[in-house]
Amino acid sequence: MTDWQAEAVRLDAADPLAKWRDEFLLDGELAYLDGNSLGALPKATPARIADVVEREWGEGLIGSWNSAGWIDLPRELGAKIAPLIGAGPREVVVADSVSVNLFKLISAALALRQGRKVVLSESGNFPTDLYMIEGLEGQGLAERRLAERGAIAEALDDDVALLLLTHVHYKSGEMFDMARLTKAAHDAGALVLWDLSHSAGAVPVDLNGAGADFAVGCGYKYLNGGPGAPAFAYVAERHLAALKQPLSGWMGHKAPFAFSDDYEPAPGVEKLLCGTPPILGMRALEVGVDLVSGIGIPALVEKSRALSEFTRAAMETLVPELPCISPDDSRQRGSQLSFAHENAYELCQALIARHVVGDFRAPDILRFGFAPAYVRFADCWRAVRELRDILDSGEWRKPEYATRAAVT
Ligand SMILES: *Cc1c(COP(=O)(O)O)cnc(C)c1O
Repeated sequence: MTDWQAEAVRLDAADPLAKWRDEFLLDGELAYLDGNSLGALPKATPARIADVVEREWGEGLIGSWNSAGWIDLPRELGAKIAPLIGAGPREVVVADSVSVNLFKLISAALALRQGRKVVLSESGNFPTDLYMIEGLEGQGLAERRLAERGAIAEALDDDVALLLLTHVHYKSGEMFDMARLTKAAHDAGALVLWDLSHSAGAVPVDLNGAGADFAVGCGYKYLNGGPGAPAFAYVAERHLAALKQPLSGWMGHKAPFAFSDDYEPAPGVEKLLCGTPPILGMRALEVGVDLVSGIGIPALVEKSRALSEFTRAAMETLVPELPCISPDDSRQRGSQLSFAHENAYELCQALIARHVVGDFRAPDILRFGFAPAYVRFADCWRAVRELRDILDSGEWRKPEYATRAAVT
């Protein structure tokens, strides 16, 4: 019989990334398994933000747009994110939210595929991706088509302008084969837009290697940029010259400070900018991105797989009544595991009361995310052990655990 606790202790002792947890402001008692929803706070962030506020803004005032490099930050931060996702330094920019970047890039893709109107996506994809297609459909610009996960390739036909998929599914953790589906879309004459919100900083991503056209991703999950951190957008270099995006704000102009009456887009990826970049949020994101880059994707991926594999095996043995709905093979899933139970919400609340923070996804999923920069094997073991105890004791039946908050 496996001694899971001893195994967790052994794995933590042998973990080359163990020291990185110290770079985050995390209570030692906390098993934080929700970094896939909101990444933890890097210890360096508060001082960095204080410095930006007091020195760059307070003392430098408007001169900081030049002297502190604020104006270049969207591109520079994009260039730092690029190697994490297999992109070139001039193909990524930081701007707006994932939702807004989806709008810009879906529109731009439709404009590049005149005569085709269908945007194909997966039924059950993350809601904002589906809603943004709907918004464009409401304006008569797009036609939304949804297919089941296994039937995406067959749903590609001559009408499809764009295939929009989320690389790692937020609920199940299933990961699409990016290269294979990109090729299938291209073979059908369509472009591809990948949502990397649950991928960047946790799983291997090779946008250039896959021949991807566009991508978007989130700054506040595995990149640890803080709540509402700005998002990123990727455009393959071959599309940059022809690309037209509809949010033609002045910051995407080729010469914003010429104050011309007429819009002329910047030649590069900065044409995706719309309004003035949120500098405080970008500086916070920069700290998170620097941390992730310092650890390196290969090491993060290896630890992510080890953490989820340990948890999957322990859950299968000790908590068999919660079936795992994520793929068995760690190479086919993101940095998370999802378990189904009718009372997943209550179980999640009871775990939080014991300082094990996972999350609940409607209607019946208990989700554990493994942010490899700071999650310990001991945290994974605690999650399994506490869950077993909560089920055995019936503690989850307490009425206070059934009350749902606005954010779940
Ligand atoms: C978290 C997430 C988003 C977030 O979108 P915002 O507009 O930044 O709120 C988008 N797509 C996916 C797949 C996500 O997981």
